[in-house]
Amino acid sequence: MASAVACEFCDLLHEERPLASREKALCVRCGGILYRCQPDSLRRTFALNLAALALLLVANVYPFLSFSLEGQTQVNRIVTGVILLWNLGYVPLALLILFASVIAPAAMILSGLYVSGPLLRGRVPRHLARVTRLHVKLAPWAMLEIYLLAVFATLVKLASMATITPGMGAWAFGALILVSAAAKAAFDPQVVWKRLEASR
Ligand SMILES: [Zn+2]
Repeated sequence: MASAVACEFCDLLHEERPLASREKALCVRCGGILYRCQPDSLRRTFALNLAALALLLVANVYPFLSFSLEGQTQVNRIVTGVILLWNLGYVPLALLILFASVIAPAAMILSGLYVSGPLLRGRVPRHLARVTRLHVKLAPWAMLEIYLLAVFATLVKLASMATITPGMGAWAFGALILVSAAAKAAFDPQVVWKRLEASR
């Protein structure tokens, strides 16, 4: 029996048909993308999330920015900025930045590895459906760019007073933004749902 696919934009139902590699199926009514055939989606999801995990660790452990002012140097990590905002009384902003730049990306990466790793080895992990749903739901919340925005706002204020040097953490964070975007694009939930269905 062919399965039906609803357009996520206009809800029109379509009968699902197999696609060739790199093809995509479009809604006949609104032209939105229904599904695509991404070869190697699982392998690329796993590799990119593994790289992202390493970058996230480096970005958080190594110094992000150093400020030098009148002979004194202050080294800052990602979490320093969050603590500073918290101490200044900007608690909701501190929490938002912590969530968007550390917690949500970490959860995205770990859930991506949890889903793609075992499937690549032909095993279906126990909480596959739940973790895949979490991975898809988190995507709009993992906004690493929001942290950079906050950093730039601070830099504009300090630039005239102090010498600012980006550290290893900042370079890793920049690379993390690119790798995370590639990991998001590589993940195809349809591949996961098909494997789950086939295992039943
Ligand atoms: Zn549509």
